[in-house]
Amino acid sequence: MEWNRSETLALARHGCAYCHGLGRLFHKDKSTTPCRCVFREIFRHCYQRFRDLMEQDPFETRPTLTGNRLSAGWSRKKEEYVADFYLVSKRSLTEAWAGLSRAEPLSAVSAG
Ligand SMILES: [Zn+2]
Repeated sequence: MEWNRSETLALARHGCAYCHGLGRLFHKDKSTTPCRCVFREIFRHCYQRFRDLMEQDPFETRPTLTGNRLSAGWSRKKEEYVADFYLVSKRSLTEAWAGLSRAEPLSAVSAG
């Protein structure tokens, strides 16, 4: 994925010791990569949305018609987001982090 300066600048932490709020790390070969504070901020947004959706009443959601005239289908966007976030987190996060998050809503999904 190509990151532009505006995206990383908007997501960077102002007091970051590595990128100093720019959101980009400059390497000796003149290449740049996004700073970890940018990825942490993206994760925080996704995790907050996950928590918000977990707190909603499950009977409140409705299926949504998606697609076009040729290939239409029904989907449950909120439930799909929660399931995707849970599976990606479970796959990506380390065992230590998973142990810390047992009291968090991630464990509620796996139990139910
Ligand atoms: Zn940073």
